[in-house]
Amino acid sequence: MSWRDTLPSVRGKLLRDEPLGPFTWFRVGGAADVLFIPADADDLAAFLKAIDPAVPVMVLGVGSNVIVRDGGVEGVVIRLAGRPFAGITTEGDTITAGAGALDAMVAKASARAGLAGLEFYAGIPGTIGGALTMNAGCYGSETKDILVSAWGLTRAGERVDYSLTDFGYTYRHSEAPADIIWIEAVYRGTPDAPEAVAARIAEITSRREQTQPIREKTGGSTFKNPPGHSSWKLVDEAGWRGKLHAVTGGGAMFSELHSNFMINPGEATAADIEGLGEIVRVEVQSKLGVNLEWEIKRIGRPS
Ligand SMILES: Cc1cc2nc3c(=O)[nH]c(=O)nc-3n(C[C@H](O)[C@H](O)[C@H](O)COP(=O)(O)OP(=O)(O)OC[C@H]3O[C@@H](n4cnc5c(N)ncnc54)[C@H](O)[C@@H]3O)c2cc1C
Repeated sequence: MSWRDTLPSVRGKLLRDEPLGPFTWFRVGGAADVLFIPADADDLAAFLKAIDPAVPVMVLGVGSNVIVRDGGVEGVVIRLAGRPFAGITTEGDTITAGAGALDAMVAKASARAGLAGLEFYAGIPGTIGGALTMNAGCYGSETKDILVSAWGLTRAGERVDYSLTDFGYTYRHSEAPADIIWIEAVYRGTPDAPEAVAARIAEITSRREQTQPIREKTGGSTFKNPPGHSSWKLVDEAGWRGKLHAVTGGGAMFSELHSNFMINPGEATAADIEGLGEIVRVEVQSKLGVNLEWEIKRIGRPS
């Protein structure tokens, strides 16, 4: 008997061998051994307490910064879907948002509440959980500039409370243990006219449309910007903008529009996408002498 035959009983959904590709922007990758969509945070905590501690557990947001490998993901993948995880409330100058809420929805709520500072979230197509993990940011602002605190659950199902400083944020990186599942975050904005906030959000949205392949199957920035360099320039100089590369499928490429964004033009596999990234990393190092570090998280088993 395997651990999958003795899963704890839950109020949410437990799905075996569930393909994860449809839950990611790249639309590639294998299945989760088990996908768990908890009914609420109590359901999740009870599940984490009850399941064998040796079983790996990870959480997926809306998959806008991940490659799920073709061999699927070992253990349990959790998705915080639905209302109990997506609430957004404002009080005074603070905004409380569930980890499953989209960043863009939080930006919109900040405009309605007349709070400035969260506009940049309109340009990031992930969830609050993903933003807390990645210290997501753009146009000179990062999650660390607006976050007050957050709480989550440990692998053992115990609640942990983090203030901003506990995260130890640096560029697209958090020092918090990777196995904490974030449930809710509190942000602080600065009072401003709702129309002024909304206008800045509209500007960010239209700028995105023009500069990023947001209608493609992509994972956002592939590499972090190395100190003193822009990754898109390095990819470009190494000659990889728009060049198709295939390993096991129809091939992947770096976008013509933004050469730090990889895209799946149709029939790519995760091996194509990750393989392309690795080739470019090696070439940028050998041709240009700069070390590129992945920003996209790669999860699961190769096929
Ligand atoms: C078109 C496009 C544009 C983008 N532009 C930007 C940008 O300007 N700036 C930027 O910073 N990013 C950008 N991204 C990347 C991405 O949107 C962000 O990193 C986002 O924060 C990821 O959120 P997600 O919900 O999609 O997380 P996922 O991609 O699903 O996961 C990313 C990581 O977060 C973890 N995670 C997710 N939810 C939780 C949770 N509740 N608790 C614990 N860990 C969790 C996952 O385990 C994984 O390690 C862009 C992506 C795309 C596709």
